[in-house]
Amino acid sequence: MEGETMFALTVRDFADHLVDEVAAATTAEVESGDSPRLACLLDRASRVGCDDAEILSAIVEVARAQNVLAGAQALLVRVADRVGIPVRKRLSMPSLLMEIGVAPAVAHRTVRNGRHAERLDSVARGMRDGYLSPEMADEVGRGVAAVDKRAPLDNPEKQTLARKLLLNSTPGEVKAAAKAEGIRLAAESDDPEAIPASENSELNEMTLTSDDEGRTVSSISLDALTGEELSAALDPLMRPVPQPDGSRDPRSTAQRRADALGQIVRTYLAGSERPTSGGVLPHVSLIVPTTGTPGDGVARLGFTGPVGSATVGLALCSSAVSAVVVDGEGVPLDVGREHRLMTPGIRKALAARDCGCAFPGCGRPVSWTDAHHIVPWSEGGDTSVGNGVLLCRMHHTLVHNSEWQVVPGDDGHPWFIEPGSSQPIRSHARRTLTSHTDAAA
Ligand SMILES: [Zn+2]
Ligand SMILES: [Zn+2]
Repeated sequence: MEGETMFALTVRDFADHLVDEVAAATTAEVESGDSPRLACLLDRASRVGCDDAEILSAIVEVARAQNVLAGAQALLVRVADRVGIPVRKRLSMPSLLMEIGVAPAVAHRTVRNGRHAERLDSVARGMRDGYLSPEMADEVGRGVAAVDKRAPLDNPEKQTLARKLLLNSTPGEVKAAAKAEGIRLAAESDDPEAIPASENSELNEMTLTSDDEGRTVSSISLDALTGEELSAALDPLMRPVPQPDGSRDPRSTAQRRADALGQIVRTYLAGSERPTSGGVLPHVSLIVPTTGTPGDGVARLGFTGPVGSATVGLALCSSAVSAVVVDGEGVPLDVGREHRLMTPGIRKALAARDCGCAFPGCGRPVSWTDAHHIVPWSEGGDTSVGNGVLLCRMHHTLVHNSEWQVVPGDDGHPWFIEPGSSQPIRSHARRTLTSHTDAAA
């Protein structure tokens, strides 16, 4: 490789040695049964009479080797950061690691561990000797930082706390111990100016990650005032909505809260007064391939990745979405949304007609609704009052994801047909379902 240094060569020799160590055992090695190579242990382990202690101690030593390598990686990353490589490459350090194939969570942790090792002697030593896993090192480093925020520590106190936290045996225990320590020290501090933890916005944090199924998972910790603002914003949007037959809203409180958050985010994205990012208003990007070989034809969202056709349909009705249609080579064909989105004039007419979500029994306010195309835009449906209907996100999702149908009625209003039924229900019909069928086309 070009520009390889002696350091890289040393590490490469080491890696090559490890690869040799696990390369499949030869017949001769298996027959002699006394080769010290790891591969021979791996092979022998499938036979009867293997030695438990030998296998277990090999597992321990491999874990230690992993820890040593993870520690070396964290220190290297810290050096890269210090000499300014990310700045020169115009990337953050975690992004740089992700570019070379490191998983996002590991990339962020590696960067943090480099900093922890720089500040905390015991963490640096544990990483170097391999008795400290990257997960533990990170939790200890974060624990010390969290305690420091609640009750400021000087350097010797930080070193002592790190050693104390290292006595725990799992990252979970370290986290709990750090929290207890923070509360204890904050209570002990006689500083009358000290902000109680419940009101300290410096302790605020929010995680946002993707799980194995591609779902977005978040945890959030807020000070009292920000928490109050969040609750106040969510509360009116969390009200239960009765079913068309008058039965209660089947959604749990947690589901209604998540739906309310989605509503707030969409309202924000649809508004014009929001800070720009790189000169453009933040928006949701949907990349839709039109042609290409099977398997390449899956649409994807900018941040969260591949999505199915029902979600694509839903997204195409949303004003917060910029759809980019690309050909088989990924070249944009159409970035316009002028023809796809209902104009303000059409939306006004729909608002006057539907007065909110038109789904039977709903009636959520106009500002909470998407303008849905009855015949999808992607199937040639036009962008007009006749082909439009206002639906809240819950009912909009239902219409896209289930067999519920919307049909324009002769009375100029949208009518709804329940799955398995042929009897249209008029928009806003509540409890007493109509038997008047001839109004629907
Ligand atoms: Zn729609
Ligand atoms: Zn609704």
